[in-house]
Amino acid sequence: MHNKTLADIIAGLNRGDFSSVEITRHFLDRIHQLDGQYNSFITVTAEAALASAAAADQQRANGSVPLFCGVPMAHKDIFCTNGVRTSCGSKMLDNFVPPYDATVVENFANAGAVILGKTNMDEFAMGSSNETSYYGPVKNPWDTNCVPGGSSGGSAAAIAARLTPAATATDTGGSIRQPAALCGITGLKPTYGRVSRWGMIAFASSLDQGGPMARTAEDCALMLNVMASFDGKDSTSIDRPVPDYSNYLNQPLSGLKIGIPKEYFGEGLNPGTEQAVRDALVEYEKLGATLVEISLPHSNLAVPAYYVIAPAEASANLSRFDGVRYGYRCENPKDLRDLYMRTRGEGFGEEVKRRILVGAYCLSAGYYDAYYRKAQQARRLIKQDFVDAFQQVDVIMGPTSPSPAFGFGAKGNDPVAMYLEDIYTIATNLAGLPGMSVPCGLVNNKPVGLQIIGDYFDEALMLNVAHQFQQATDWHQRAPEGLA
Ligand code: GLN
Repeated sequence: MHNKTLADIIAGLNRGDFSSVEITRHFLDRIHQLDGQYNSFITVTAEAALASAAAADQQRANGSVPLFCGVPMAHKDIFCTNGVRTSCGSKMLDNFVPPYDATVVENFANAGAVILGKTNMDEFAMGSSNETSYYGPVKNPWDTNCVPGGSSGGSAAAIAARLTPAATATDTGGSIRQPAALCGITGLKPTYGRVSRWGMIAFASSLDQGGPMARTAEDCALMLNVMASFDGKDSTSIDRPVPDYSNYLNQPLSGLKIGIPKEYFGEGLNPGTEQAVRDALVEYEKLGATLVEISLPHSNLAVPAYYVIAPAEASANLSRFDGVRYGYRCENPKDLRDLYMRTRGEGFGEEVKRRILVGAYCLSAGYYDAYYRKAQQARRLIKQDFVDAFQQVDVIMGPTSPSPAFGFGAKGNDPVAMYLEDIYTIATNLAGLPGMSVPCGLVNNKPVGLQIIGDYFDEALMLNVAHQFQQATDWHQRAPEGLA
């Protein structure tokens, strides 16, 4: 039962092969039995899930139902859920129970989905390994000595371990694509503005974007149909019709032009990862696509620009956590200053504090022009590289991350080594473009992801490009040993 994709589950529920209560209970039992090994959930909402599954079964018995009616899934713990703790992986929000749902959560509720719980993540979505979570690290189901990637490592690991068929996630610099790659699943970061950020706890507002994680591109299309919406409550939400992404999944790839950026195959790329990606490109040629070598000349500016802009925005966004309004408050503050200092000192973890310090520094009067303004100028050049490339090609492909999953603590003492994990994913966030990761191989039995970058609002094309690959290969069907 747990090997079923979302598409299988929807079809099975429609046929009456099983009830929502049965499938929901099955996943809850698996979480209960197995998640002690992976730590992929922060909160499991078993009772509420079974109640909404029972209600979904009743609704189905009474007539026509929305597409996700009774379908179990999970939300990353960055999305506010009415009445259910939303921690964002931080001690600061350990006690935070939002009085409202994020728009994404509401969209899934309206579509009838059953929520199994909230998944683990790096604190405030800062990280690439899930080691910064206040709730402890998530373990990669392919090798529990290795990280699942981050920040959406809980969502990715839960899907890989078949504890949920799908989950929401967010991507500020790679947090959907990199953990999807390291856990052997499929994830999509939509165009900036496609999915509402309302109720999604802010990290770096000009980069954050919610998106789907599942085992297949077909399932990501089903989820994006629900997630994407115009939302007046998010000032950067874009008012543009949402296509039915599932309708575009059967287009042949003949004539497709795939850009291969030479900068994505240079120094630092693991040879096994490179081989798997090159094999995938050969598969695309067999499917009728043409490979075109391109250049994204400002790629080397992406990581440095991101690590000025993202911390700058984070330092502003995280100033709201002051011990006064909500969240953690230190014990017995002497005065207001002591309240602020100890609340933030005790409530935030090390990486979050590092980002706040870097961000505040880059925005300070003497350094704004030297760092923040320069980073924004670099961002503009990076975006222009992509605009130029998409004059020549339909999609861009390369590796999602430089290597397969690494061991716990492997990059622990060196923040810059960790920051380089996102060397291939960050530029798309800076440009606001959509990106995907699709399983394309195994190196020493650890998954490798192929990254597909599309032009603005080309999610339908990208999903079809990914789906065609998944029709021709079976990497997305591989499971960690013993978990299929
Ligand atoms: N790893 C990157 C960071 O630490 C990206 C995180 C993300 O996309 N949320 O900022």
